[in-house]
This record gives sequence, structure tokens and C-alpha cells, in this order.
Amino acid sequence: MLIVQKYGGTSLMDADRIRTAAMRAAHGVKAGDQIVVVVSAQGKTTDQLVKNARDILDQPSAREMDAYLAAGEQMSAGLMTMMLHSLGQKAVSLTGWQAGLLTDSTHGNARVIGLSSDRIRKELDAGNIVVVAGFQGINEAGDITTLGRGGSDTTAVALAALLGADLCRIYTDVDGVYDKDPRVFPDAVKFDRISYKDMLELARGGAQVLHDRSVELAMQYRVPVQVLSSFRPGPGTMVID
Ligand code: ADP
Ligand code: ASP
Ligand code: MG
Repeated sequence: MLIVQKYGGTSLMDADRIRTAAMRAAHGVKAGDQIVVVVSAQGKTTDQLVKNARDILDQPSAREMDAYLAAGEQMSAGLMTMMLHSLGQKAVSLTGWQAGLLTDSTHGNARVIGLSSDRIRKELDAGNIVVVAGFQGINEAGDITTLGRGGSDTTAVALAALLGADLCRIYTDVDGVYDKDPRVFPDAVKFDRISYKDMLELARGGAQVLHDRSVELAMQYRVPVQVLSSFRPGPGTMVID
């Protein structure tokens, strides 16, 4: 099977957490799967980068902001790949543009329009785990774009859709999708499964557990998406027809 695993910021906060994620990815390869890992920036890195930029200029150019913000995910991709190497696992990191993720030119909120998948395929076929920096792509002019806050989910689902993966697993800091934010409402109820349509409504209503565009893509390409905890075992929530 071809499986995309996506790890959010809290799941990559420090070396121990990166190791946990890397071990899970390497285990997938041992079980006979091909694995693409999509990473977010560590912890609150992106917030800090936004602040750094605004300390220099109130309204930075959207192009430069994207070039700068994309670095957070690139750092994670490098660290994750080194961790995989430390476990004896073949792996290679790719930026969004090296991975061939083509977007429109709406800097700061770009939409995925295609994937030149040759590079990812070549690396997978060579036995690598391919670690892709989330949240970023390239436009037709060759400039770096970002997909909007929370956009690494969309990278993961887009890659799953356009590579024809069997499953997209979103590893995060809650153990699935709830009817409302479980961190705010202790009485929130978890879904074992939720339809694309209902998930889209939740995401558009602000449930940040999945970026709304990732749900749009999952629905369009019928990608099964599993939302689950990075820290606790359990099946999480299946987002499916
Ligand atoms: P990641 O860094 O893994 O991308 P996010 O912070 O973007 O994680 O999304 C996970 C967070 O989404 C959870 O910590 C939770 O507080 C929040 N959340 C909001 N609404 C929901 C919901 N309906 N179900 C689950 N989590 C939700
Ligand atoms: N790092 C980006 C953000 O904080 C993208 C993501 O985490 O999905 O919005
Ligand atoms: Mg997120």
C-alpha cells in the first residue's frame, strides 16, 4: 500500500516526538508499505516567523512572506529525515517544489492545481521514505507559495489524491474528530467515522483539526482520511464517503 502520514506541529515539537513519528513511518516500510511523510513546522514556529517578519515590516510582500514561512516546514523535513537515517531507514526530504506540488499564484492562500509526481515516485521506488515539507508549493512563475494556515493537511491529502495513495493518515494532538473542539468542550463526542460532507461543514465552521481545503480535495478524489493521535494508540476517526 501507498500511505501518506502527516504530522502537525505539536507532533514534532522536540527530538523525542520526531523519533516517535519516524519510528512509526519506518515501521510502515517494514510492514511492506511505501510511505510519504508530510511535516508541518515544529510547535509554534510559523507564528514566530510571522512575528519576525512583522517586526521588520508591517506588511511584508506576500511573495517574500511565503519564501520565508516555507522555511519552517523545510527545517522539519530535514530533521525528520535525519531521524529516519538514525534509525537505519533510507529517506529523503523534499521541499514542496522539489516534490512538484504546483499551485496557483495566490500567495499566502494558494490552491493546489497539480503534481509532477516523477521525483516522489523515483525516490519511493528507490526504497526511500519521502519526507515532504507541508504547507508549500510552487506557482507557474517558479515562486514559492504557501497554502494558508493549517495547510499541511492539504499538502498531505493533495499528495495522497494525486499519487493515488490508499490512505492519508493525519497524526495530530487529539485522538480524532469530535462534534466540537474537545479542548474547549469536555462533553465533545468523538466520531468513529464522518462523511466528507459533514467534515467539510465542521472544517469550514472553524474546526482546525483538518484544513477545509484538505477536506474538499479528499471529497473530490475520494481519498480515505484517518485522523488519529500521534501520542496514543487508537483508530481515531475515518473521514470517508
Ligand atoms: P496539527 O498541529 O496537528 O495540525 P491543529 O492544532 O491544527 O493540529 O488541529 C488540532 C486541534 O484542532 C486540536 O488540538 C483541537 O483543539 C482542535 N479542534 C477544533 N475543533 C475540533 C474538532 N471538532 N475535533 C477535533 N479537534 C478539534
Ligand atoms: N505551519 C503552518 C501553520 O502553522 C502549516 C500547518 O501547520 O499546517 O499554519
Ligand atoms: Mg493543523
